[in-house]
Amino acid sequence: MEIESLFSEEMEPPGQLNGLTGLEKAAHDLILPQEPVSSPPPVVPVRPDRHPSCFTDSRRSQVFRKRFYPGVSREDWQDWRWQLKNRISDHESLGLMVWLSEEERSAMTYAAGPRPVAITPYYASLLDAMDVSHSLRRSMIPVMQECFRVDGEKEDPLDEEKDSPVPGLVHRYPDRVLFLVTGTCAAYCRYCTRSRIIGRSGAEGSLRVHWEKAIDYIASHPAIRDVLLSGGDPLTLHDRKIEWLLSRLSRIPHVEMLRIGTKVPVTLPQRITPELVKILKRYHPLWLSLHVTHPDELTAEMRQACMRLADGGIPLGSQTVLLAGVNDSVEVMRRLFRGLLRVRVRPYYLYQCDPIPGSAHFRTPVIRGIEIIEGLRGHTSGYAVPTFVIDAPGGGGKIPLLPEYVVGRDGPDLLIRNYEGKVFRYPDGGPVRHEIH
Ligand code: SF4
Repeated sequence: MEIESLFSEEMEPPGQLNGLTGLEKAAHDLILPQEPVSSPPPVVPVRPDRHPSCFTDSRRSQVFRKRFYPGVSREDWQDWRWQLKNRISDHESLGLMVWLSEEERSAMTYAAGPRPVAITPYYASLLDAMDVSHSLRRSMIPVMQECFRVDGEKEDPLDEEKDSPVPGLVHRYPDRVLFLVTGTCAAYCRYCTRSRIIGRSGAEGSLRVHWEKAIDYIASHPAIRDVLLSGGDPLTLHDRKIEWLLSRLSRIPHVEMLRIGTKVPVTLPQRITPELVKILKRYHPLWLSLHVTHPDELTAEMRQACMRLADGGIPLGSQTVLLAGVNDSVEVMRRLFRGLLRVRVRPYYLYQCDPIPGSAHFRTPVIRGIEIIEGLRGHTSGYAVPTFVIDAPGGGGKIPLLPEYVVGRDGPDLLIRNYEGKVFRYPDGGPVRHEIH
């Protein structure tokens, strides 16, 4: 595939890159030209040669489309490009669909607001129109608390810049790298760890240069056997770019597996087209990590997207960030993780929320995550219990946290507690042999 033609199709004017360095600059340069186009009317048409993904729309999204996008055909609604081009990013447009509180309205208009806003029309259909405490609303619509930093919060809480040998690549663990291939997401989560780099207008021109540098680095480091593509969301890239990246990486002999971190099956399930799955299937072993927040996201559309991916032989795992007032209860997590298993996604990680600036209202005490794991383990299928981790601030990597199941010792016996709190003994005293009669 010709790289020039790949990168020449979607140029946009350079944006402001004031005072940015390293990974931040790289992320700006990686932005694709799909930045928010606001307001439902007028809608932005897609090119007629593009065809939709032929999903069955849920009743909820059908009603929403007819009410707020009366002139938009079902085919356009199901076209992921239409969804991306018509993302909602301003309070005037969003205010037509949901009642915005003064707090939400102020945050959306606050000039120094730290994070971009964009919501696909599909995902907007999942928001409760009146309830400001609705979980999905809280995860997507900003509030003024986002504009205030508390002690311990940092733009780059995981110190990724420090472990970035070339722009857009983080090499922290010996055998794997994180490759930030774009700064664009279908929708912007308010608690995003990489909020410092996502969703900003930037220069498209050096995208190729960054990708090439990152690929050269991976190719020249034989210890790297696992490449995680993230961003931003790699699945907001067009098929040809995804194919180009996967084919270049899979040609490196020591790269044994590829992974993609994405929230697209949740925020833009229409993106999971048969054509995309066909491309992904060519690069096995390829794993997908789905970012999922709440059971309300498990819609008919999301289910169809997951089924397509799973039928393509792509192993699916999930990542969930523990968020106060959004999903911080055993009951919500149980519904979420059981629901994920039903759509063939294995719950993988539950993350303590990273301390980015303005995220204090999202963070729970760490003990809450441990209590949730304790409330799940033994009470539901083991497959429905993810690993609870803190990604250690300062670049320490993921550290798992578990409830305490070892309660002590009694001579050679280890005393262990089960999910009901009953204590059992395990003979752990070493090889003292007795004759068996
Ligand atoms: S989808 Fe991921 S990268 Fe994008 S805003 Fe949400 S958390 Fe951040």
